Amino acid sequence: MRQTDSGGFGRRAFLKGGALVLATAALDVTGFHELFAREDATPDGLRIGLLTDLHYADKPRAGSRYYRETPGKLAEAAERFGREDLQFVVELGDLIDSADSVATEQGYLKRINREFSAISPNRHYVLGNHCVSTLTKEEFLDGVGQKRSYDSFDHGQFHFIVLDSCFRSDGTPYGRRNFEWTDANIPAAEVDWLRDDLKATANPVIVFAHQRLDVSNSHGVKNGPEVRRVLEASGKVLAVFQGHSHKNDYKEIAGIHYCTLVAMIEGSGAENNGYSVMEVRPDGTIRIQGFRKQADYLWPTGRKPSL
Ligand SMILES: [Zn+2]
Ligand SMILES: [Zn+2]
Repeated sequence: MRQTDSGGFGRRAFLKGGALVLATAALDVTGFHELFAREDATPDGLRIGLLTDLHYADKPRAGSRYYRETPGKLAEAAERFGREDLQFVVELGDLIDSADSVATEQGYLKRINREFSAISPNRHYVLGNHCVSTLTKEEFLDGVGQKRSYDSFDHGQFHFIVLDSCFRSDGTPYGRRNFEWTDANIPAAEVDWLRDDLKATANPVIVFAHQRLDVSNSHGVKNGPEVRRVLEASGKVLAVFQGHSHKNDYKEIAGIHYCTLVAMIEGSGAENNGYSVMEVRPDGTIRIQGFRKQADYLWPTGRKPSL
């Protein structure tokens, strides 16, 4: 397993190093060695596959959404992820799109989840508004084999949190088309759980959400500012990954990275795909290697896992 990992890094480092040498060989040999060492020095880091907003449905295109192309785009991501020695994969919501019946929509879920499941035995699903539009939360979670809609887990020296913002302002969970998509909320019980969960961990934290916690427009969680205060007060959160907006976006708020990932569904053809590999290094540095339309990021936090 480790051998595959090192092999992958070695190859990329060689390619990048090679390009650097061509550009600067006469000027800076030390720079080359430093880059090579940095690219290769992640023996205890984590590698995580990320994708979002697949919106799979067996129905004709609507606007820029080509529902029937999702399986082909997912197959490309799966092929890439298969070469990356990932610890786990996270799907950040809107895995499916709506059908005119519960049974048909469950068929969409079964089909796309069969292909997504083949990527890794270790998977985490964030609920998106489209996941629980026709289906109830119980039906969606049963369909993907996940117990809870919000949860947390440790991997390596890091703590990961999955949030569920698919609740109306009155606390009612989404399902059976009982909501407006702009009415996304994290109810008091979940905020309390989040505060306690953050208190209980000694590790640096990475959060996964669907609706956005960094904006106050229609794409934002209505009580986003309250949730951000809880994340900030913990002093442990490195980054929040989100979907829902379908576009690359990034904000830093109070020292926390809020990264919105590009949707897989938008646009036709392989060039309009989008997915990424996140690498979390032991010093807390996070690197996002984006494929196709997904942007790249490198956040050298320099914060140690032993916060
Ligand atoms: Zn979406
Ligand atoms: Zn959404």
